[in-house]
Amino acid sequence: MYIEIQSLIFAIMDTKDYIDFNSQVKMETGLHERDRAGVQDFVLLENYQSEEAFIGNLKKRFQEDLIYTYIGQVLISVNPYKQLPIYTDDHVKAYRNKHFYEMPPHIFAVTDNAFRSLIEENRGQCVLISGESGSGKTEASKKVLQFIAACSGNQTTVEGVKDKLLKSNPVLEAFGNAKTNRNDNSSRFGKYMDIQFDFKGAPIGGNILNYLLEKSRVVAQMGGERNFHIFYQLLAGADEALLQELRLERALDTYSYLTDGLNGSVTSINDADSFKQVQQALTVIDFSKEEQREIFGIVASILHLGNVGFTEVEGNAKVNSRDLVVTAARLLGVNASELEAALTHRTIDARGDVVTSPLNQELAIYARDALAKAVYDRLFSWLVQRLNISLQAKETRASRNNVMGILDIYGFEIFQKNSFEQFCINFCNEKLQQLFIELTLKSEQDEYRREGIEWIPVEYFDNKVICNLIEEKHKGIISILDEECLRPGEPTDKTFLEKLTQKLAQHHHYVCHEKAPAHIKKIMLRDEFRLVHYAGEVTYSVNGFLDKNNDLLFRDLKETLSKAGNGIVRSCFPEKELRSLKRPETAITQFRASLNNLMDILMCKEPSYIRCIKPNDLQTANVFNDELVLHQVKYLGLMENLRVRRAGFAYRRAYELFLERYKSLSKSTWPNYKGPGGPKAGVQQLVKDLGWDEEKYRVGETKLFIRWPRTLFDTEDAYQE
Ligand code: ATP
Ligand code: MG
Repeated sequence: MYIEIQSLIFAIMDTKDYIDFNSQVKMETGLHERDRAGVQDFVLLENYQSEEAFIGNLKKRFQEDLIYTYIGQVLISVNPYKQLPIYTDDHVKAYRNKHFYEMPPHIFAVTDNAFRSLIEENRGQCVLISGESGSGKTEASKKVLQFIAACSGNQTTVEGVKDKLLKSNPVLEAFGNAKTNRNDNSSRFGKYMDIQFDFKGAPIGGNILNYLLEKSRVVAQMGGERNFHIFYQLLAGADEALLQELRLERALDTYSYLTDGLNGSVTSINDADSFKQVQQALTVIDFSKEEQREIFGIVASILHLGNVGFTEVEGNAKVNSRDLVVTAARLLGVNASELEAALTHRTIDARGDVVTSPLNQELAIYARDALAKAVYDRLFSWLVQRLNISLQAKETRASRNNVMGILDIYGFEIFQKNSFEQFCINFCNEKLQQLFIELTLKSEQDEYRREGIEWIPVEYFDNKVICNLIEEKHKGIISILDEECLRPGEPTDKTFLEKLTQKLAQHHHYVCHEKAPAHIKKIMLRDEFRLVHYAGEVTYSVNGFLDKNNDLLFRDLKETLSKAGNGIVRSCFPEKELRSLKRPETAITQFRASLNNLMDILMCKEPSYIRCIKPNDLQTANVFNDELVLHQVKYLGLMENLRVRRAGFAYRRAYELFLERYKSLSKSTWPNYKGPGGPKAGVQQLVKDLGWDEEKYRVGETKLFIRWPRTLFDTEDAYQE
């Protein structure tokens, strides 16, 4: 009888309403694409322990341009490498204020969910985006920002803030991104951006933290890769007057720092247009004309410096192109003779004993490159600081919790050759995995506790042991590296490796050449060590570890720069740094401190996870490489994530929603449940009438927990009939 009434309702709806209602209903359970394009939520996958089934589902959906899939609340996103019409204003509207499972998976759903939790429950949020290079992290972070900007407040002041937040992207990308062999627009730094909201949910400010810029790129690039975008943008986009002022030629091959890798333009990039956008963005973010002039002056000075060559006379380096030093010096606002001397000499101040000695050619080149790298790196950090001043909330009405963070940071890296940089990046990923364990597994358990549901905790690999191996005080790799860097005598990469092996050979996650099993020994060199990361094994070459960790810029150069007429340069090399008697912190120690700070920031927020996957190595649409995807699924820990999610209760639904949807399946609940105890009692009655086995579900405080998706399928099928 109740089914008949339902048909009657449909009969009196007009056809369009019926279709909308029907598709809405189908969307709600995530079942409407079950046959056509896999499952929308992996917890619904029957064969959930099979990697093949997992990849199969992703692939089936990818082929239908359905790039998003959930594992519970975690969003998996496969880079489509083509513009899909799924980010329009209509999509923003459709996803705004909807329950998470009401709509097909989408990054807007995740953002909306987080945003509502922020506004309605006053809980600080963070969106954590991870994945390998080219998987779509930065694009994802822009979609999050787009959604927030589109659906939050529209007063003029707020529009100003949004504009600045959005415009910070082209600036940071110009200076921090580059064409690599994996991604034409690869971020070469990590980024965490906080957006602050007022109590009504309007954005009022923001703050950006930057991590570890790959500054070695300034002076050298691999084949097929480019330097940071800004160099090419400046040369292609600056007008004649600016070029003249900076003494620049348009031809890229004039500049030695640009000729290492790919010496030319990239089809997907229009450097001249981008330069205009950067200039415009800088203006919107209130950079003065003078500041802009100084910024481009610094960029140009680096190009000139790169062309400064040296000859060696009796072991002493001599600059052989003084005019270039003069130009660079003018742009930096330093004395040319002083710069020349600083490039070819080194002063050591050993407890008041000041000794200046000339550099040979090799060391002079080293000093020149160190200068270029340091100036660029500090310019980048200065830009971020300066952006932050512009983004600072004018009003202080924002509560501390009204913050949404977006983290777009390098994913786990395993290359043919892995060095100090990969070590830092992979360490960062270990820390993020720790956070994932803390926040998701913990929150899962918290929910069961809150709802009063008994459950047996599931086994998972806790990577704390690897974090400790790397960062434990006095014993970890970082401590050993720092000790070696600071040790008097002649520490080298080789002595560092010896120390590592001496102290860590017994550790289960450290593999040295001597003790490696035969098949590993075959692929390892003597100057390498291997770490068993949570995401896989990585062999690191120790070459350059000490040098990169010391990150030495000779004192003479620092001193010259601290007096620079270019205000930005001067503030980047403060005099107090010279006067400080403390040894500057090593690169890895600074990195560890900034990571720990990040962990503190993230730990007190509610996380949303976006796991990005790259479907192929060709940066092309419609190609899905199973093997490549499987590799990523493994090291993103997605199978384990799913296992944990499935071990508990795959589906949970608030009583009101469940009852509203399925009340027609029982006489006691149709058209409304009238008994005592409200929706909770109604649902209990309903599932009893449906004959559900007790094992299949649990009754929580506010939600019904369903163990197997099959149960829901069957109920849904009954409903559809
Ligand atoms: P990296 O770690 O190198 O910075 P990434 O994960 O940030 O990589 P993105 O720069 O976001 O990768 O994406 C690489 C390219 O893939 C983009 O330039 C764009 O062409 C394409 N892409 C990524 N996501 C999408 C999307 N949702 N829709 C269309 N194209 C996309
Ligand atoms: Mg990126």
